[in-house]
Amino acid sequence: NGQPRKSLKIAVIPGDGIGQEVMPEGLKCLRAVAKRYNIKIQLDEHFADWATCPRYLREGSMLPEGWKEQLTSYDAIYFGAVGHPATVPDHISLWGSLIQFRREFDQYISLRPCKLLPGIRCPLADKKVGDIDFWVVRENTEGEYSSVGGKIFEGTEREVVIQETVMTRIGVDRVLKYAYELAQSRPKRHLTSATKSNGISISMPYWDQRVAEMGKKYSDVFVDKFHIDILTAWFVLRPETFDVVVGSNLFGDILSDLGPACTGSIGVAPSGNINPEGRWPSLFEPVHGSAPDIAGKGIANPIGMIWAGQMLLEHFGHKEAAHTMMRAIEAALERGGTGIITPDLGGAGTCEGLGSYIASLIEEI
Ligand code: ATP
Ligand code: MG
Repeated sequence: NGQPRKSLKIAVIPGDGIGQEVMPEGLKCLRAVAKRYNIKIQLDEHFADWATCPRYLREGSMLPEGWKEQLTSYDAIYFGAVGHPATVPDHISLWGSLIQFRREFDQYISLRPCKLLPGIRCPLADKKVGDIDFWVVRENTEGEYSSVGGKIFEGTEREVVIQETVMTRIGVDRVLKYAYELAQSRPKRHLTSATKSNGISISMPYWDQRVAEMGKKYSDVFVDKFHIDILTAWFVLRPETFDVVVGSNLFGDILSDLGPACTGSIGVAPSGNINPEGRWPSLFEPVHGSAPDIAGKGIANPIGMIWAGQMLLEHFGHKEAAHTMMRAIEAALERGGTGIITPDLGGAGTCEGLGSYIASLIEEI
């Protein structure tokens, strides 16, 4: 990634439900860190009327005509949450928004941190803060999630259903390059590849072959590979052995939910959908959805949103600012107490209270 980007242009889309509540806290923290480190960040809100999905009800689409042109000039999209099941079915709101961005902006990397934070109950009983700190890199555009295939003799006893995996050399190599570079930037320089070449006999050996080929260019990175079945077991049994883990679309999908789940942080974790070349905007969002059950109550945990902002800064090379933001999040969890911590983590605090507390820590920590 090289030099930090001096000025950033960010499209802000709070979206639906608790997206509306956590976004102001995310922006508060971004503004605080930008001020402290003298980073110029332009934050422009888009699709502000999304929350009640009036556009969908009126026009049958989530995004307005010309949305792509409207967003193209931005470095990144800072995204709250989508989903308003009372008015729009979930598959329509998701396909009409995030999936469009992913496709049209060629966000071919999905990136998620798996990091154990203080004050969060880790489901793996014997793990301490510091034990779990790795990344999952998922291929986000091809692989197992193709629509290539079909059915014959449908509805009869001879029914046959086929769905193909599509791997292209460009598609595989570009996600591997990203994963190798991420591994190279970290102290352990360790990349783990998810495979299943003992069972899936054409596409997975090809994946393995590209991993080995690409590895020649990154001789300072230690690479190993595991079959997906034992790899999932090792996420649970020895997560401290991972640094960067890369997988195809399907394996990456599974690992990028399992990894944060192992740290107990699936509710506060962020996610990046990245176009590494920066030709198109990348998107950073909390993993959680719009949470209609708690929307409007002011009790949503803003950490996923704030951590997504932290990831955004790190992506654009602002290492020190990102490091400070992470320390502020961790310190808030450590020192906040039940008056500050939100109910999902066992406290009685509010979204606004926790967000403001983290912003104040960013200023002084
Ligand atoms: P998606 O539609 O993105 O797949 P979902 O609708 O299945 O997600 P969420 O909206 O993330 O799920 O909500 C799942 C549960 O977690 C809900 O009970 C919700 O209240 C809770 N939850 C989600 N995010 C938060 C948050 N930031 N703070 C507190 N609770 C949350
Ligand atoms: Mg939802």
